[in-house]
Amino acid sequence: MDLHDFSLRQLREGLQKRDFSAQELTQTLLKRIHTLNPELNAFVTVTEAAALESAARADDRLAKGESGTLLGLPMAHKDIFCTADLPTTCGSKMLKNFVAPYSATVVERLAAEGMVMLGKLNMDEFAMGSSNETSYFGPVRNPWNTEMVPGGSSGGSAAAVAAGLVPVATGTDTGGSIRQPAALCGITGIKPTYGRVSRYGMIAFASSLDQAGPMARSAEDCALLLNAMAAHDPRDSTSHPAAASDFLRGLDRPLQGLRVGVPEEFFGEGLDPEVAAAVQVGIDQLAKQGASIQSIRLPNNPHAVSTYYVLAPAEASSNLSRFDGVRYTHRSSAVENLDDLYQQSRYEGFGAEVRRRILVGTYVLSAGYYDAYYLKAQQVRSLIREDFRRAFAEVDVIVGPTTPGPAFALGAKNADPVSMYLADIYTIAVNLAGIPALSLPCGFTQSGLPIGMQLMGDYFADDLLLNVAHRYQQETDWHLARPNLKAGEA
Ligand code: GLN
Repeated sequence: MDLHDFSLRQLREGLQKRDFSAQELTQTLLKRIHTLNPELNAFVTVTEAAALESAARADDRLAKGESGTLLGLPMAHKDIFCTADLPTTCGSKMLKNFVAPYSATVVERLAAEGMVMLGKLNMDEFAMGSSNETSYFGPVRNPWNTEMVPGGSSGGSAAAVAAGLVPVATGTDTGGSIRQPAALCGITGIKPTYGRVSRYGMIAFASSLDQAGPMARSAEDCALLLNAMAAHDPRDSTSHPAAASDFLRGLDRPLQGLRVGVPEEFFGEGLDPEVAAAVQVGIDQLAKQGASIQSIRLPNNPHAVSTYYVLAPAEASSNLSRFDGVRYTHRSSAVENLDDLYQQSRYEGFGAEVRRRILVGTYVLSAGYYDAYYLKAQQVRSLIREDFRRAFAEVDVIVGPTTPGPAFALGAKNADPVSMYLADIYTIAVNLAGIPALSLPCGFTQSGLPIGMQLMGDYFADDLLLNVAHRYQQETDWHLARPNLKAGEA
């Protein structure tokens, strides 16, 4: 096995035993990034010099006998997290030249652990998209088949982890952006309970839905990273006082007696038969490991996508008003007066999908339409939350597909925004409710594309989801499959 296939635990052991140094590990992965990134386009910035410096610092600390869990281990951040003194683009022309004066809490916390950041990862512009095609920096390609999208919006993170450019990466999930690309790239990713991970320094899309989380090849590696990410942060007013936890502690609990609910609504029309079959095999596996399976209903789930596409644009239209061409953003040079400056800078700086969301969001919040759209959507959001509350009175975990289909071809859904929006039909309700959910690999299509299974849990049941996924991964090897990239590199 090559270094780029190692799990965090294996890498840590290697570092502790001095089989290799943090600098050697960093160099190996940087070389792999240089070989594979020109095609995959997963990284928008590679911070080579800074990475080698922090690896050298990690080696010094290791030589002194320090044994931090994540010390010297490589990672990369989705380019939505502000990183002091380095570019943070959020996938947008608007922020092409933006250098943040401070780092996000998540960035600070992982740096404090001694992790080595290799760079910033490509994403849909302002995290709006399901295919990574809205990025100003060009689409990311799926390592399993480079004609296919990696999913989005954390497509760079998913592709980088699947291709072995980094063992773990951060992502964010507003309506599915960790889980959907994780499913399409055959990796594991968890959207934690809302409030677990600080949003400070994470560029806001829809603040009541946005949540950061880890993306890795296994649930165990997700747990290791989440341990360092999750903590109460006084700088984020929605951060939960009990955010921190040890997610490794319960990882090995047996699944005997686990009550699993399978929602009827997740297996209806529009679900690809190969995905349905693979997820069914995954559910059977959980049963084999001692879980009891029952059918449940989430009757309001069919309204999740339309509810989201009122609320998320509404919040986005407000959050994105700060990008005005006056301060740190793109500024148009073709202006005659102040109104022009705002209009032209925003027109030139934002891509089509972002402009569409701002228009929709402004419309649903405007006088006369607010009650009909925004308020109504908030009411439906309550009903969706109630569905989950009722379900979790009966079951511990809800299981279903992460996405309606496997990775689709680049360009396939670009002409039809609604078909793109439907890629998140199984992931969005989770964000509206604020509960945690995880996607893990559970099979492949005939044509060799990964399929993801989704586990949803009650508030603060993040540890249970990681536990179920970990036990499943002890008995199955879908998460160990690797794409066949030009062999021989790194
Ligand atoms: N695909 C959804 C959207 O475009 C969700 C994105 C996300 O979770 N950031 O809004």
